[in-house]
Amino acid sequence: MREIRIKNHKKDILIIDDTADNLRVLSSILIREGYTVRKALNWQMAMTACHAVVPDLILLDIMMPEIDGYQVCQRLKAWNLTADIPVIFVSALDDVFDKVRAFQAGGVDYITKPFEFEEVLVRVQNHLALRDAKIEILNLNSRLEQRVQRRTKELEDAMQKLQAEINSRQELQTKLLNIVLHDSLTGLPNRVLFLRKLESALNRTKQDDNYQFAVLFLDCDRFKVVNDSLGHFVGDELLIAIARRIQATLSPFDTFARFGGDEFAVLLENVTDLGMVKDLAEKIIQELSLPFKLSRYEVFMDASIGINWGDRNYEKPEFIMRDADTAMYRAKASGRARYHIFDPVMHSQAIKLLELENDLRRAVERQEFIIYYQPLVSLPTGRISGFEALIRWQHPQHGLILPTEFIPAAEEMGLIYPLTTWLLKSVCKQLRIWESCPVRSESLTISINLSARLFSNPNFLSEVDAVIHESQVNPANIELEITESVIMENSEAVRNVLYQLKQREFRLVIDDFGTGYSSLSYLHSFPLNAIKIDKSFVRRMQENKENMGLVPAMIGIAHSMGMKAIAEGIETPEQLIQLRSLNCDLGQGYLFSPAVEATRVIDLLTANPQW
Ligand code: C2E
Ligand code: CA
Ligand code: CA
Repeated sequence: MREIRIKNHKKDILIIDDTADNLRVLSSILIREGYTVRKALNWQMAMTACHAVVPDLILLDIMMPEIDGYQVCQRLKAWNLTADIPVIFVSALDDVFDKVRAFQAGGVDYITKPFEFEEVLVRVQNHLALRDAKIEILNLNSRLEQRVQRRTKELEDAMQKLQAEINSRQELQTKLLNIVLHDSLTGLPNRVLFLRKLESALNRTKQDDNYQFAVLFLDCDRFKVVNDSLGHFVGDELLIAIARRIQATLSPFDTFARFGGDEFAVLLENVTDLGMVKDLAEKIIQELSLPFKLSRYEVFMDASIGINWGDRNYEKPEFIMRDADTAMYRAKASGRARYHIFDPVMHSQAIKLLELENDLRRAVERQEFIIYYQPLVSLPTGRISGFEALIRWQHPQHGLILPTEFIPAAEEMGLIYPLTTWLLKSVCKQLRIWESCPVRSESLTISINLSARLFSNPNFLSEVDAVIHESQVNPANIELEITESVIMENSEAVRNVLYQLKQREFRLVIDDFGTGYSSLSYLHSFPLNAIKIDKSFVRRMQENKENMGLVPAMIGIAHSMGMKAIAEGIETPEQLIQLRSLNCDLGQGYLFSPAVEATRVIDLLTANPQW
């Protein structure tokens, strides 16, 4: 906005009046007061005067021929040059109506003739001062506006700079992110980026029924050998070559990442059937089987692939990779340069086992176990000679669990020791009770199964001693069953423990005989009392009626070594007849009775059955 300068010199007043007399009087007063005064007799002259010099104030008569004061005023107000000039009407007309019209026409004041000079002067001065003030305000405003504009411009410039700075930082960030999300050797996406993509694939399957993805997890077979023998430089060169070859089998829509070391991963999206994925795995394996011609060496490198057919029920992408990894290990285990598809059953079994293990720990503390007893029958007499103690787990939710389901876990977890100690104590207590049973005159034996693990426990023997001492049971009535594998471990420690047990007069029985691979001469060197022929041989005896399988030989061996033969798993009367004919000493099986609870043992003893 342009700035208007306030005149410091004499103020210029234009008097417009058709009466020369009036003009004269008025002008002389004003001149005396120091104003420059010009005169115009009509609109025409006034216009010329304004053109020459724009006045600071106009004194205007109303009654003039042709164009009257009102009209002159209107024209002055409509004219750009004079619109801001204050116009004071000077007139003999003293009617309110006239004054109103004057103000409506744009006048700022109204002086009635005849006038008092002082009044005219004061009014003129006031309006001039008012005009100066107005101009000052306008100027201040315009300066303010300029400042605002300048500041706005400055701010805009600063904003522009800032934006440029932000842009360059974002660029840098993208570059850094790119570095962070990619493998520097191959330039492929890395694990982090892969998992992100996998996560969005997982989210998509949850929303879109038609969308299906699959993951291939690939691990080079024996890559370490190359690295160790030819050096890391060659190893790196090989990894790049492997990456290129795999990449060539993929479509641009697949995500291919180096997962770390010699591991790669592929995310296949929008796959329709598992066949497609298998084909790809085969193709990759095929491609990798060709020799790699590196700069100095020719290298062969296979890879094993784990496939996970993306399931929407996964919670996290990491879990998908975990299972793909499991499948990859299966592939490796089954002979390398293969693929294996992950089976969710594999995982749920693992989970179940984990839960079982947790429960098992508590079960030992809470003693949730029960002992069942299965009678052993003397085959010549047909009467019960003893019982085998078989443990069961009374699970608070799952009910009765058989030992085959939890004994291996208990062994793994180191719980077999407390479990067996508890069992041994309980069994000894039971035996004392049954021994005092009036219906029974002969002594009873109780068989206990011992895990291989127990033999490495240094406290085992002293614990056994303590239990025997406390219960006052005759060790000769206790049979300890061990499997062939225990003996096959051949450690001096095992042999030593067995001899010490034998010294205490425990009876030692080799269980599940025939399922291990113990050599007979080797068995001979152990202080054993009996062999228990595994039920699988007893079952097969019938299928092979002619020679009765291996059972006769086993009984013969036992007897030739001075041991008793026990047949387990006798289910039919035919089996019983055959075993009797072979002079088998003892038998056990559903034909006589399954394992029963301790309370039912008394019934059995009282009934004193004979088979
Ligand atoms: P095992 O020592 O060979 O025990 C014999 C198994 O055969 C028992 O299974 C028994 O119930 C079953 N059985 C008995 N008669 C017959 C029959 O006529 N036909 C068939 N098919 N099976 C018969 P159970 O009780 O399920 O025990 C399984 C295995 O668990 C035992 O095999 C033993 O190795 C182990 N076990 C049981 N209790 C203990 C224990 O307290 N400690 C240890 N370490 N292992 C135990
Ligand atoms: Ca047994
Ligand atoms: Ca057995």
